[in-house]
Amino acid sequence: MAELFVTSPCEPCGSCRSEAWQVVVDGRLRWEQQEYCTAEGHAYQACGGGWGPPPPRIRERILAGEGAVRLAVGGPDGVPLAAVRELYGLTLPQLRDARAYGIDATPVEAQWLGRMRDGARG
Ligand SMILES: [Zn+2]
Repeated sequence: MAELFVTSPCEPCGSCRSEAWQVVVDGRLRWEQQEYCTAEGHAYQACGGGWGPPPPRIRERILAGEGAVRLAVGGPDGVPLAAVRELYGLTLPQLRDARAYGIDATPVEAQWLGRMRDGARG
């Protein structure tokens, strides 16, 4: 269940800044977002967050800022299919593609998936 709260007293302007990042808390993946304004008199401020992968527009921003990590899925060296499916909520055809071509994860997602892979092994 995604938990999401956003407060935006007004629309963002050219001086509004936005930051988004991911963390692992108690073994679970979480995303956080914070927006604020540097222009005088503009009270724009918003924040949000939730468990699991971030919304697409936020995830794209994280990927653009931090780069994507290509991961193999399934097999002896890949991250577990079940973990990938659970994290991204993939359909079976998407999961087949992921297994065939790998997936592009954010660095923190890669860290979380890597932990699932190593945990399954040990
Ligand atoms: Zn602003």
